[in-house]
Amino acid sequence: MGDEQKGKVDRLGIMGGTFDPIHFGHLVAAEMARSMFNLSKVLFIPSGTPPHKDRSDITDAGFRFEMIERAIQDNPAFGISALELERKGLSYTVDTLRALRGIYPEHELYFITGSDVLREIFSWREVEEILKMTEFIGAARPGFDASDFLLQIQHKHPETQGRIHYLEVPALAISSTDIRSRVKQGYPIRYLLPEPVRLFIQQHGLYREDNVL
Ligand code: ATP
Ligand code: MG
Repeated sequence: MGDEQKGKVDRLGIMGGTFDPIHFGHLVAAEMARSMFNLSKVLFIPSGTPPHKDRSDITDAGFRFEMIERAIQDNPAFGISALELERKGLSYTVDTLRALRGIYPEHELYFITGSDVLREIFSWREVEEILKMTEFIGAARPGFDASDFLLQIQHKHPETQGRIHYLEVPALAISSTDIRSRVKQGYPIRYLLPEPVRLFIQQHGLYREDNVL
């Protein structure tokens, strides 16, 4: 609990994703959200078997977890949770938020996404419940304009007024998909993600052609 927040409710940022692997796009979005919304902490929560992904070759959860640990080690406001990895079966955001409410009953929750994911939230299971439990911070992501979505929710879901925020961040056209494909093709990934993560990928031979099932 930060001293600067004394007397105020602590705000917890939540960043969900596959993080296969974690990269600077995730870290910049999380850090800008932390600073702009006075979040005392941002928790990275890697998904186990994500309901919205159709990839069957998602990297072992242990590797993804370790890469996040390496990426966040120098930021005292960043943490990691194995909540979704420990749960059996599909993980739904609504369940994760319920669990977090139990663990952090005094905190206000802020769910951080990129604009690609923000545009999809009304397809999520129990979205009304979700929006009661958490506010959203949608970080701008190159190639995923959210302005139509933001206009639509003003009309269609006026009850969410003030609970869905759009955040301009320095645009980074980085994606895990692109990083995986670069490794596979032998192209460089240096400067797209933290160096300890790059070294980890190299050491364990992740994403290489001969590693694909
Ligand atoms: P993949 O290509 O495998 O989908 P990804 O790069 O989109 O990977 P995810 O793990 O799917 O990464 O994303 C986790 C969260 O981070 C999502 O909310 C996503 O929108 C956000 N995010 C990912 N990359 C960026 C980026 N470059 N800028 C802003 N937000 C991002
Ligand atoms: Mg993605």
